[in-house]
Amino acid sequence: MAKSITELLKSGVVIGDGGYLIELERRGYVDSGSGREKVGTGRGSGQFTPEVAIENPDALRELHREFLNAGSHVLQALTFFGTREKLNRAGYGADTERINFEAVKLAKEVARDHAKHFEELVRPFAKEIQVDRALVAGSVSRTQLTEREGMASLDKSRDHIGEQIRLLKDAGVDFLILETFFHLAEMKVALECAAAAGLPAVATMSFRPLITKCTDGHTPAECAKVMADLGAVAVGANCEQDPKRMLPLLREMRGATSVPLAAQPAAFRTTEECHSFTRLPAFPDDLETIQVSRNEFVEFGKAARQEGIGYIGGCCGCNAAYIRALARGVGEDLKRG
Ligand SMILES: [Zn+2]
Repeated sequence: MAKSITELLKSGVVIGDGGYLIELERRGYVDSGSGREKVGTGRGSGQFTPEVAIENPDALRELHREFLNAGSHVLQALTFFGTREKLNRAGYGADTERINFEAVKLAKEVARDHAKHFEELVRPFAKEIQVDRALVAGSVSRTQLTEREGMASLDKSRDHIGEQIRLLKDAGVDFLILETFFHLAEMKVALECAAAAGLPAVATMSFRPLITKCTDGHTPAECAKVMADLGAVAVGANCEQDPKRMLPLLREMRGATSVPLAAQPAAFRTTEECHSFTRLPAFPDDLETIQVSRNEFVEFGKAARQEGIGYIGGCCGCNAAYIRALARGVGEDLKRG
């Protein structure tokens, strides 16, 4: 058995994987929804949903392999936006069980098939740990109900997120990554569902349009403290900002909690006025014009230990080259000692 995420976090810097949906959208397997409606409102219907797990499993398998080859210690099963609520709006509600189950099965198969490679790869970063394959995380995100119906919908969110987490547990994930939550209130619901299922959870909020507060008005420090108090094994931020823009909010979190930080930034440049790429006009059809270079991820990898980041990966815009850059940065920092 692979060791748990908690042990992996204790043994050194954990390197995550990159962003699946934007990369698969670029490869032609995922629908951004931009041809039908305004994207980036948080209310979209069939945008960036994970049916590729059942419709084009080979494309997903290949992307998992690429991340593993690049240095990822964890594979996220492509279950992002996989609640029945979101899948219903995309026309895939009846496939909720199958999408979640197949996505986890596929990630586990790739992790198992590359176990030897993984052992060689993880050893330089985590000398003491007994590992036999990359860990597989179930990705769980917001339902979008809070954007659509307001805070009164949190009980419905609880039903949907609770259902997805039970499906992921039955499918055999090693732990959960709760990510891209805009409202701390919905993140709390997700952490309670994770605890009820007995699964460890890495919890990362997303901040937009500015990094100063999440959508329901909490500072990064407040978010970090609440998430840690609810049992998250690592807390932090993902998506929306490039590494440089995300660092100040991570430092704020660092001051508020003693659990490891987790950071999975996007690879898109934002502006002083707008710290979130999904709120910029370039999203989603001009993203190539705001792509940041992979070198920023080398630097971010070098800074990980110094900044107290125990779990470091990428989100939207990060393909395998970015994860390789991140792993190189972490490696260079370790060599410096
Ligand atoms: Zn993202």
